[in-house]
Amino acid sequence: MTDEKENGTPEETPDKKESGPAPQPGNLEDMLKDLSEYVQEKYGSKPLMSIAPAFRPPSSPAAPKEKKKAKEFTLDFNYTPRQVKEYLDRFVIKQEEAKKVLSIAVCDHYNHATHDLGKRVDYDYVKQNVILIGPTGVGKTYLIKCIARLIGVPFVKADATKYSETGYVGKNVEDLVRELVRKADDDIRLAQYGIIYIDEVDKIASAFNVAGRDVSGAGVQRNLLKLMEETEVSLRDPMDISSQIEAVMEFQQGGKVEPKLINTRHILFIVSGAFAELAGLVKKRQTRAAVGFGGEVESKKPDNRYLEQATTRDFIDYGLEPEFIGRLPVRVVCEDLEEKDLFHILTRSEGSIIKQYEASFDAFGITAAFTRDGMKEIARLAAREDTGARGLLTVCERVLRDFKYELPSAGINRFSIDRRLVRNPRAALKRILRDPGSAVDAALKESVARFEKEFEQKHGLRITFTPEAAAAAAGQAEAAKISLEKFCRLLFKDYPYGLRLIRENTGEREFIITPEAVEKPGETLNSWVEKAYRGGKNQ
Ligand code: ADP
Repeated sequence: MTDEKENGTPEETPDKKESGPAPQPGNLEDMLKDLSEYVQEKYGSKPLMSIAPAFRPPSSPAAPKEKKKAKEFTLDFNYTPRQVKEYLDRFVIKQEEAKKVLSIAVCDHYNHATHDLGKRVDYDYVKQNVILIGPTGVGKTYLIKCIARLIGVPFVKADATKYSETGYVGKNVEDLVRELVRKADDDIRLAQYGIIYIDEVDKIASAFNVAGRDVSGAGVQRNLLKLMEETEVSLRDPMDISSQIEAVMEFQQGGKVEPKLINTRHILFIVSGAFAELAGLVKKRQTRAAVGFGGEVESKKPDNRYLEQATTRDFIDYGLEPEFIGRLPVRVVCEDLEEKDLFHILTRSEGSIIKQYEASFDAFGITAAFTRDGMKEIARLAAREDTGARGLLTVCERVLRDFKYELPSAGINRFSIDRRLVRNPRAALKRILRDPGSAVDAALKESVARFEKEFEQKHGLRITFTPEAAAAAAGQAEAAKISLEKFCRLLFKDYPYGLRLIRENTGEREFIITPEAVEKPGETLNSWVEKAYRGGKNQ
């Protein structure tokens, strides 16, 4: 999946305020008066309505026309942890522990939020905010995105490094909550149950802070802490001119400004980071302890083993504020993805990027047939990138870019992405453009071989297409606009039963699929069965 686009970046909040000092807001009422006077002075008695739209970006939620009436919303959460995990299993490969832990945390959180809709609970509930630890591209964002989709709540992702304590240089963490409301189509009630995901929190740990900028990691952590506990955030961004103009208009019309607030009590916060150096800290602590007690020092544990054993103290030593890490009671380490996991992501995940590539070629009427050895090669090259599953996209883009460009205008309607092509895409493209027929042949053979194998695995019967039968089936599949394998599954759906009857009578184990079988599958099978009962072999 283009997961840069589809799964990743769209959730990231836009970079509004990169640099440069911004005016210091004072008392809101004074500010509005000043702004109002300034507007009067500059535009005379013109009603503000007539000038305000000029300040408003078209997609701004402040634009009155776009304001949607809040839908009546009731949070309907009826999942068990097992159901959430089963849903995640369909998309996310590996990360068993993370899927389990997140499923439990999400159920706890939303069960509590549901019960809390009407009444306050009479016990102190500790919010199940989560910290996910793991390198880039292993599925942290994807996990959360899938959860948000399952529950039907909005989801916002951002990098902790983009935020600053004051919000003057860099963004203010409260922007995240406002972004959540935007994602919920201005439905504040829905946004109150959204998920905010903040990546790279390890970079705002004070021990690893970037010096010289107005980015106080500890300050950002404190601000995040406020949000994670419970606070009310104004939906009017003090740094956003259109929000302020809207407030001025309200002020002018009614003499007061209605506060628009959102409570963060039910927002689920998930933070993450690679915490690469944390493993070293834990190792050091454990080694000291082991030496101190005269024990054996185990020297070559994988890093993740240390990360899994990180205590609150280790996170504090790393530079996280004690209160901040204290508000993240659910901790889980994501595993690294190996070559075979990357291959499984391609072949088993419902969100596999293979589907995306097939679809983008299909839009030009081209069948892109990924072979198993082709996908194995993609996984091998992706593993070398060392960016987790992101490497898959990098490799596919690199390998297929020229094909995407050339094939749609070359009149080719089928090609096969096999190992040879992945290893040397340029040469393969040249070959295909020179002799389109060969590409079609190769892709066709591959599809037929896949169906033959699937048939044998499922039914224990070996079938082999003649080249003419394969070509006939491909022609019909193309006319029906479905893949060759799907077409064959439908066409030969009665064959397992019929062929088994023949096997019982004649002992035949291999069957040749002829063009006649493709043209008239039912009649052909009947004639074979009859012949078998009369005592003759078919083929
Ligand atoms: P992270 O947040 O850990 O840096 P992402 O979740 O953004 O990584 O991963 C990028 C993309 O790679 C995802 O959108 C998804 O398509 C794919 N991906 C990553 N990890 C997995 C996984 N474990 N299973 C399936 N797909 C994955």
